[in-house]
Amino acid sequence: MSEFGEGAIDSHCHLDFKHFDKDREAVLSRAREAGVVMMINSGVDLATNRKSLELAKKHDFMRATLGLSPNFLEGLSNQYLQSQLDFIKENAGQAVGIGEAGLDHYRCKDEVARNRQVAVFQKVIDLAKSLDLPLVIHSRDAEQQALEMVKDLDKVVFHCYGGTMDTMKQAVDRGFYISLATVVCRSGPHQVLARNVPLDHLLVETDSPFLAPKRGRNEPMNVLESVRLIAKIKGLSPSEVASATTRNLKKIYSIP
Ligand SMILES: [Zn+2]
Repeated sequence: MSEFGEGAIDSHCHLDFKHFDKDREAVLSRAREAGVVMMINSGVDLATNRKSLELAKKHDFMRATLGLSPNFLEGLSNQYLQSQLDFIKENAGQAVGIGEAGLDHYRCKDEVARNRQVAVFQKVIDLAKSLDLPLVIHSRDAEQQALEMVKDLDKVVFHCYGGTMDTMKQAVDRGFYISLATVVCRSGPHQVLARNVPLDHLLVETDSPFLAPKRGRNEPMNVLESVRLIAKIKGLSPSEVASATTRNLKKIYSIP
């Protein structure tokens, strides 16, 4: 048995992005060989939703979530937005969840644009609810507001969580999941979150190609570095963290 027991799951990545066009299959093989048994690829707009579905169809160890990121709304007409929502609805049967979607106040400082993020996020929330699928939230500097907006949902993942301890506790109290990205390997505040998040509400992710443990392009294999570090922080073995986060992920996404 390896250090990671039955293996770990990268709960959020973007392997369809152009960053991987030259060596996508090699990246996947490396991850698999290292002990990453599954990867969830999240769409952020129409093109990436399509590609996420293709990847999930091609590889039995991949799953897709279909989303509409707050960072991809600029200049989009309402009509085009609606067509994106329709695509998600029509293809939801091939996805394990809805998202990423949410609020990004870190990148977006403009009031009008922030209001549009709220309006679009609300539509995605309604969709997740009507489809009874888990919702993957992207929230930056707006975690509490995002949390208030999903009060009616019971299956929620805070992807790449980096908010306050207080909001995290509220999310956990509601039964939501906190997904920590590989940035935990180089961020003190994330390490404090890692110490405090209950193991049965924790997921791990890379958010590849972003948030690498040591800068540069990230890839799913690196999720194992997080597992190793979080285990150390929590006084557990890597295989205990790997198996708990795998169990949590399969539960939230209803994966057998
Ligand atoms: Zn993402």
